[in-house]
Amino acid sequence: MTSPLIPYGRQEISEDDIAAVVDVLRSDWLTQGPKVDAFERAVADRCGAPYAVAVNSGTSALHIGCQALDIGPGDLVWTVPNTFVASGNCARYCGADIDFVDIDPETYNLSVADLRDKLVAARSQRRLPKLLIPVHFAGMPCDMEEISGLALEFGFAIMEDASHALGASYRGEPVGTCKWSDLTVFSFHPVKIITTGEGGMVLTRREDLAERLRVLRSHGITRDPARMKTESHGPWYYEQLELGHNYRITDIQCALGLSQLTKLVDFVARRCELAQRYHRLLEGLPVKRPLWAADRESAWHLYVVQLDATLARLNRRAVFEHLRRNGIGVNVHYIPVHLQPYYRSLGFIPGQFPYAERYYEAALSLPLFPHMTDSEQDLVVNVLAGHVSL
Ligand SMILES: *Cc1c(COP(=O)(O)O)cnc(C)c1O
Repeated sequence: MTSPLIPYGRQEISEDDIAAVVDVLRSDWLTQGPKVDAFERAVADRCGAPYAVAVNSGTSALHIGCQALDIGPGDLVWTVPNTFVASGNCARYCGADIDFVDIDPETYNLSVADLRDKLVAARSQRRLPKLLIPVHFAGMPCDMEEISGLALEFGFAIMEDASHALGASYRGEPVGTCKWSDLTVFSFHPVKIITTGEGGMVLTRREDLAERLRVLRSHGITRDPARMKTESHGPWYYEQLELGHNYRITDIQCALGLSQLTKLVDFVARRCELAQRYHRLLEGLPVKRPLWAADRESAWHLYVVQLDATLARLNRRAVFEHLRRNGIGVNVHYIPVHLQPYYRSLGFIPGQFPYAERYYEAALSLPLFPHMTDSEQDLVVNVLAGHVSL
């Protein structure tokens, strides 16, 4: 497949980003140093959470998030099928069992009604989850207040997978505030809202979790005498408290992240403007457009349409291939995680999460990125319209 003229998503790097990275290359610090602290502080302040721990990917952030919450063998973790595989893999790294809650067919996010039903059934079987990982799909925040109410009632922890949702807000609070969760995870992969090349972060209001996350990021090692099990041997002394990782992010990456963060508001505003434009331009075509909710603002990581399922001629594959042939880099998010061969090998079967499966059959992500022009967007809509409105 040739590379499309208009990709589905793309980072925006400007001269000041490049200058910020070059400055670090000329400094004394390359790996974890002052830029890591500054980036953590800046994201935490932006989101209104007291603690933030930056790591080398969103996947690493999800993994140490599970570990900090003591997820281990015998524990049960729930997430949604309509997500990237990393949202489920993080629990598997810890040896925990995974299960899924189906999505709401309107929001494509976790269905609170299904969650409640599944919790009631799980309680009677004495097999409640220890952790729930809701995913703010496409940048649209989940029903966090309702979900956190259920967490109190049924006693489970919440880690928000906000990989798509930096810059989004829910009921007046930025995503990342952790007002309705224990942890929130961001990804800074190039297709996400801001980038550090590769990178991720965990935010929390809990000091104990923040300390544990810092230790887990760096081999399980502490240099803080107050946290040591035995008396310090001297200034060189460190202790490994538990089995951690090398998940450190570099100062080079965090300098880029800090520079990118100054543009977050503009990036999200442009994404939102383009989403509104798609909404207008697609009116009357046989596609279902994303929902706009009054009490929350999406970061618009993705603009997903669903082809009208009642029109059998609208074969998603044919539409996808037509757009790709015409240089439009459409994509599909997501193949339901439980249908992946790895998850099938754990016993999941087709038909188990029908809304996620039905959604997948018809979903198409249209190109959306901050420096996409209006005329590029017009082209996307014209090529799509040329195929679907015969
Ligand atoms: C991108 C993404 C991740 C993983 O982030 P990486 O930084 O690529 O490791 C996890 N969950 C979701 C929903 C994502 O989109």
